[in-house]
Amino acid sequence: MSIPVIGVVPLWDEERGSLWMLPGYMDAISCVGGLPIMLPLTSDGAAISRICRMVDGLLFTGGQDISPGLYREEVIASCGALCKKRDDMETALFAEAVVNMDKPALGICRGTQLINVALGGTLYQDLPSQYQGKTAVSHKQAVPGDVLSHTVMIIEGSPLGTLLRTESIEVYSNHHQGIRELSPELECMAVTGDGLVEAVYMPKRGFVWGVQWHPERTMYDEKSLKIFEAFIGYCRHE
Ligand code: MN
Repeated sequence: MSIPVIGVVPLWDEERGSLWMLPGYMDAISCVGGLPIMLPLTSDGAAISRICRMVDGLLFTGGQDISPGLYREEVIASCGALCKKRDDMETALFAEAVVNMDKPALGICRGTQLINVALGGTLYQDLPSQYQGKTAVSHKQAVPGDVLSHTVMIIEGSPLGTLLRTESIEVYSNHHQGIRELSPELECMAVTGDGLVEAVYMPKRGFVWGVQWHPERTMYDEKSLKIFEAFIGYCRHE
């Protein structure tokens, strides 16, 4: 049985003008038997198409805020740093890989927001100011990235519910934006106590999941591990 190759969307350091990668994304894929390959940051159609034929699945990583222009809004003052290069690449990659080719995909943090926006959904540009009053949940943990301190309720009967067989889990969370209007192509698999969407999937595709938290940072936790096992398991059978 060959090792599933997972294309990992690169991170972009604006200050250095440099691609980079957090080892957690790569290690999480390796840990469950996949081969992670960091992709070039390109939105060239021929390159995107070739990438899609090479890989068995795609990991849409975390990073900068998504440009509000992608969901037809003006940028507000409290919106975070944007990254046009990534917006361009990821929308092109998602359209080709997922919409056209039905490749399996996992979105993490920004990746989840990208999936929602690529399918016509919208975001809160700044959760602290736009989601005020509805929440006592901190979505941006002040603690180091290996601590589980944000509770997420799993929707029973959803694919995530079936996988984890539990009502709630603790996660590591660090996000500034969140899903406002869920795309009609997606269904919710988890929410926080304040009602914010924390995990989604695309029922019309084999495996397109997004989680707003960071399971790759807490792979010592069985539930985090299971999410990557489910993703790679699906990629393996494609
Ligand atoms: Mn959250």
